[in-house]
Amino acid sequence: MIDSHCHLNFADFDENRDELIEETKKEFKYVVDSGASIESNEKSLLLKEKYDGFLKTTMGYHPVYAGRDDEETCEKTIQQIIENIDNIEAIGEIGLDYSESRPEDELKRQHERFHKLLEVASEYDKAIVLHVREAEHRALDIVNEYPNIPDVIFHCFSGGKQTAIDAVDCGYYISFATNALFSKKHKKNIKAVPLENMLTETDSPYLSPVQGEANQPLNIRKTIERIERTKKISFEEIEKETEKNAIKVYNL
Ligand SMILES: [Zn+2]
Repeated sequence: MIDSHCHLNFADFDENRDELIEETKKEFKYVVDSGASIESNEKSLLLKEKYDGFLKTTMGYHPVYAGRDDEETCEKTIQQIIENIDNIEAIGEIGLDYSESRPEDELKRQHERFHKLLEVASEYDKAIVLHVREAEHRALDIVNEYPNIPDVIFHCFSGGKQTAIDAVDCGYYISFATNALFSKKHKKNIKAVPLENMLTETDSPYLSPVQGEANQPLNIRKTIERIERTKKISFEEIEKETEKNAIKVYNL
């Protein structure tokens, strides 16, 4: 199994990180740990060094931070990604977040910086991991302006069915997280997305299936079971195909 997107570098795991990774290692081929800011990018790299060969890294710039940060922090974050480009599996999470009403200037910065990051991905031939909330089709249209980006992953996809279908038509990947367990919208999307374009993730520590507990990679089993029930395809087949996809997009 592979968790194609999680944040084991986050402080939520400071108490039990090593234990949890050792536990996960028994059942998983890889976990893909994701950065969202300068600090978490740095931590993710250190984890990659420590768990060499098992823990993989994507370095990113979460759109909410990208919208708020000053120019200097933005430049530093993008520079950090470029400096480590040969040591990361993809750029992400990056994207657009319209989930709360944000001031115009924040949204403007989100857009500008999203473009900058897409330029980096395009220039360095890196896959991207997208975090998009309530702007899925807009993000899809923007990404399509960068045809040289090798692979595009909509992490924790929460858009509508038509956007999912359009993204699949572009050859992009839709990643389902443990929040797919609870919603009808996700069920429709799971039905609409073929296995060849599907990834599974937990987004740990977020989106826990158990209230009050941090999510963890081992819970990916539950996402796969949901896909199994919804698509009537065996657990083994889903596991095999989504693994294959993750290995391809992240060059694992
Ligand atoms: Zn995430």
